[in-house]
Amino acid sequence: MMQHVPDVVYIPFWFYQLRRNLYLPPERLLDLQRRRLAAVVRHAYEHVPYYRRLFDRVGLRPEDIRSPDDLRALPVTTKAVLREQPKQALVALHRDGHNDISVMTSGSTGMPFQIRFSRQEHWLKSLVFLRAFTETGYRLTDRQAMVDRRRDEGQNRWWFQRWGIFRKYHVCVYDDLDVQFARLRQIRPQHIHGYPSALKCLAQALIERGVTEVRPRVVCTGAEVLDKGTRETIRRGFGAPIFDLYSTMEFGNIAWECPTGTGYHINSDLVLVEFLVDGRPARPGERAELVCTSLFSYTMPFIRYSLGDVAAPLAGPCPCGRGFPLMGPVEGRLVDLIVLPGGRKVSPYQFMATIREIPGIGQFQVVQEAPARILVRIVPDAKFSPATLAEVEACCQRIVAQEAQVAVVATESLPLEPSGKFRAVKSEVQSASQT
Ligand SMILES: [Zn+2]
Repeated sequence: MMQHVPDVVYIPFWFYQLRRNLYLPPERLLDLQRRRLAAVVRHAYEHVPYYRRLFDRVGLRPEDIRSPDDLRALPVTTKAVLREQPKQALVALHRDGHNDISVMTSGSTGMPFQIRFSRQEHWLKSLVFLRAFTETGYRLTDRQAMVDRRRDEGQNRWWFQRWGIFRKYHVCVYDDLDVQFARLRQIRPQHIHGYPSALKCLAQALIERGVTEVRPRVVCTGAEVLDKGTRETIRRGFGAPIFDLYSTMEFGNIAWECPTGTGYHINSDLVLVEFLVDGRPARPGERAELVCTSLFSYTMPFIRYSLGDVAAPLAGPCPCGRGFPLMGPVEGRLVDLIVLPGGRKVSPYQFMATIREIPGIGQFQVVQEAPARILVRIVPDAKFSPATLAEVEACCQRIVAQEAQVAVVATESLPLEPSGKFRAVKSEVQSASQT
């Protein structure tokens, strides 16, 4: 398919097709998925040793997979399983890899993992992001600021960027807040895409310092769970609507928030998303594990790959008229769910919703240190008093009831993960056992 297209002159045509796919009638979209799925499965079986073995082990042939439903006969692959494979078992054979692009997963669990794309796949991934941005208000002539772990290094060197199209700048979350703030004022972006935790700090600084010249038209967030309090602070600080994106290194952008606010549209022309509860498909609204199949990755295919993320499918269709199916926000990774000793699962949102109602808290983090031990770290703000700690403790203790002991401490700052992301709720117990 796309890997044989040699030249970037095809890019406008790809983008036209990507935008057209948004409004395909359901049967045409399903037909597109079936054709792409059959092609990617055949390719993986013929050229990728890991998938050849997986199919053979369960006695499946590529021609058995004719529609997304047929995929369920194939076992789910986890990141842990892929990590154990030699690299050459995961990449299509007979590739010289000369023009390939390698990216590392962020390794928020401490184990980075290398993923390979051809140049064309890499371009396509960028175009899918561009589609999500333009559907939520981005214009090609916008100055775009990316607030994440990258720094500006020779960006904007393409001829079209010199003409003022697709200009991209970076604000690095590892820098001091003052450095980030100065950089943002210098860029004066019309479009921002970044980590919610970093954007929240910048938004608070904009509010406190009364700076009004940073006025993007749209702010897009991604890579972390976005809670209501953070969303509201970012909206107030930047004076712009917020749209959240769900993306991963393996698949690029998977889903993006519809401007109508009904949910997140899944890019189902390029990624098949299954929602599984104990191996069966979830009902609309039911919290489930996400298992994804890439319909465009041929260099390093991902078929029924568990991302370890949790979200619910939503019933359609969307009033906006776009045909892509809907899902709810990602509620965190499986490892962010707090599983209590009795087996009860507590969503990160339960802690977030409760703690942000308590005055005196600038930032917080909930860590399950042991099965029955929860530590809450609080960064005080101006309204903080000793009673704040007691109130947080009482509220969190109510959530976990008798099943765990809650301790609360005040601290000056909270650590980022090695990936530069911030996790407001995390379980060290789950991380140790699952990844
Ligand atoms: Zn919609």
